[in-house]
Amino acid sequence: MECLLIKRAIIKLTGAVQGVGFRPFVYNLARRYRLNGFVLNDGKGVFIEVEGEEKVIKDFILSIHNEKPRLANIFSQSVEFSEELKNYEDFKILESNSNTEKNVFILPDISTCDECLRELYDPSDRRYMYPFINCTNCGPRFSIIKKLPYDRENTTMKKFKMCPECKREYTDPSNRRFHAQPNACPVCGPEIFLYTKDKQLIAKSLEAIEILKSLILKGKIVAVKGIGGFHLVCDATNDTSVSTLRERKKRFEKPFAVMFKDLETIKKYGEPSDFDEILITSAEKPIVLIKKRENTDLSDKIAPDIDKIGVFLPYSPIHHLLLTITGKPLVMTSANLSDEPIVKDNDEAFEKLSNFTDYILIHNRDIKNRVDDSVVFSVKDKMFFIRKSRGYAPLPVKLPFKLKNKVLAVGGHQKVTIAFGIDDKAFISQHIGDLETVSSQQNFEEIINTFFELYNFFPDVVVSDLHPFYYSTKWAKEFTSNFDIKLIQVQHHYAHALSLMADNQIQNEKILAVCWDGTGYGADGNLWGGEFLVCDYTGFNRVFHFDYFKLLGGEKAVKEPKRVALSILFKIFGKDALNLNLPPVREISEKQIESFYIIWEKGLKSPLSSSVGRLFDAVASLLNIRQTLSYEGQSGMIIEKFYDHTVKDHYSYEIKNGLIKYDNTFIDLIFDKSEVSVKVSRFINTLVRIILDVSKEFDLPVGFSGGVFQNRVLLNLLIEKGNKKKFLYHKNVPPNDGGISLGQVIYNQFL
Ligand code: ZN
Ligand code: ZN
Ligand code: FE
Repeated sequence: MECLLIKRAIIKLTGAVQGVGFRPFVYNLARRYRLNGFVLNDGKGVFIEVEGEEKVIKDFILSIHNEKPRLANIFSQSVEFSEELKNYEDFKILESNSNTEKNVFILPDISTCDECLRELYDPSDRRYMYPFINCTNCGPRFSIIKKLPYDRENTTMKKFKMCPECKREYTDPSNRRFHAQPNACPVCGPEIFLYTKDKQLIAKSLEAIEILKSLILKGKIVAVKGIGGFHLVCDATNDTSVSTLRERKKRFEKPFAVMFKDLETIKKYGEPSDFDEILITSAEKPIVLIKKRENTDLSDKIAPDIDKIGVFLPYSPIHHLLLTITGKPLVMTSANLSDEPIVKDNDEAFEKLSNFTDYILIHNRDIKNRVDDSVVFSVKDKMFFIRKSRGYAPLPVKLPFKLKNKVLAVGGHQKVTIAFGIDDKAFISQHIGDLETVSSQQNFEEIINTFFELYNFFPDVVVSDLHPFYYSTKWAKEFTSNFDIKLIQVQHHYAHALSLMADNQIQNEKILAVCWDGTGYGADGNLWGGEFLVCDYTGFNRVFHFDYFKLLGGEKAVKEPKRVALSILFKIFGKDALNLNLPPVREISEKQIESFYIIWEKGLKSPLSSSVGRLFDAVASLLNIRQTLSYEGQSGMIIEKFYDHTVKDHYSYEIKNGLIKYDNTFIDLIFDKSEVSVKVSRFINTLVRIILDVSKEFDLPVGFSGGVFQNRVLLNLLIEKGNKKKFLYHKNVPPNDGGISLGQVIYNQFL
């Protein structure tokens, strides 16, 4: 017989390859191909050595790609063949090698898989009704990891010593829990405990779930610790409970997300499209905004005044048990004080949540990294993020090119995320939120430090917003001066445009970026927000923008649409506006309006703004839809539902000398005697016309970024009209300020 040439192959894989059952998968595969050697996790990913015939090894590698575990994602691979043999006698999984470089991906927390669910409800299974059931394909990851590599002792599962049964599963390569780091059972794993808010233990384990059921059905509000933090939970069909929750949380209108036991139930309460169904049932289990059905038993107070509802499915065994046992749709809202981070620790829960709730369900598996639920929606089978967090973070976004240096981007002020740029990847943090409160600022710093530790990363350069008073800017200034590294600041809307370019893998093309949002600090010191930028990676040219108006009272105007409406009326009619019989004028006393006029005339505390987000507010006020707002983006959310697709015309406008003039738009609107829905439709149609008109002036792809482009009506119209032009939308980051950090990461790389 011919002697075949045996070679040794050194295979290195990077990507989402740890904590996904990759090593046991490779182990089984190697045995199938009768290859000897070993596999281990190192700081870069998975490292494999095998000895065998070259052809067999190549088939083996092909099978790695074709059959890899469902959560694995290979970003890069290198293979080296050597004739120097080590004569391995078997195939082994070796201990992790904690290397200095830590470029492996940390996986997000993944919802309970079907096999685990089957066991959860199987009375003969040893994990029957066990709230921490998980396996190699599901369970917590990012929320429990302290450092890399992802091994049990580097997670908050360290304190639980596996029982012999669990240990056997964990060490048996043929078991589906082989090396499942959070593996646990009722004998050895975490437990749940139900307490009163004053820390009196009521019950634990299954009994706790039983009592919780009766509490919820009686209308009580309970705090429940889940994967990335605590939720406040109540029966979503009980008006009194939902009102009480609003009252206690001082959150009067912002919609609450509702968790349903399955997709069938969701369809009774809402109208998901086929594509929405894919999003709802995905392994990430985000909150999906879908159309709400009328006349269900759901409380009207869940999402007042809007025709949409945020729905999601249970993603941890605790949630599954709660939904199954109560048989009710449940309000599941992040447990936090407004503008503070979601509560994640047991002590913190007793301290901070006792005003909201009477009972607290805790467990003893600590949450290392807090992660809020993600929120998404779809328009014409395109998915848009509103918040990218649990289930997605902290997987990286691939950049269109390699970065010259290591970048830390600190985001803006609202909906903050931070990002680390290394090579051709941006690792974007979970949602941090608005940096309004001391504890959210602390959380921001903690998350930066966690990223430093997890990735063993230190930046060469830090990028912040241009706004001098943003907490993130101030932090970046101090940090860079302490460590003597470079700080660069990038204009807010250009960062939006850059994030859009990165998101669409734009190389060196120029694009026309339409960046419309609430407000951002402009290069001229004014508050921008209705911008058309012609840009590439080297810089931008602000080719058009909405004409400035004065934001009466600055920050105050953000919560009071009537101030924006008045300002625009003053701009158009001068002092005559005082005599107009219009909702924002009627709203306030004669004296007040006189003083508003003086403020406006003298420009006191009234910065100039070009924000389209604020123009939506003005329309909401003029049509008497809203005079005050209780959450960001509310007027847009409410206005959306009035849109009528049969209305095809629009109001007048002027595009002149780089300015979008909307005085006539508002005059048309004010004197339009049609119904609200017609006026709303004409206004939104006007915005679309403006975009199309400006687009015609440039032979460039046109992209959309900024919070205004979370408006589904606007997106829908653009996607319909966009077949002639190349239109670019966000894909991997939200259009809102949650995407700013991605844009900041790639700033200044070509100068
Ligand atoms: Zn599982
Ligand atoms: Zn066990
Ligand atoms: Fe913005």
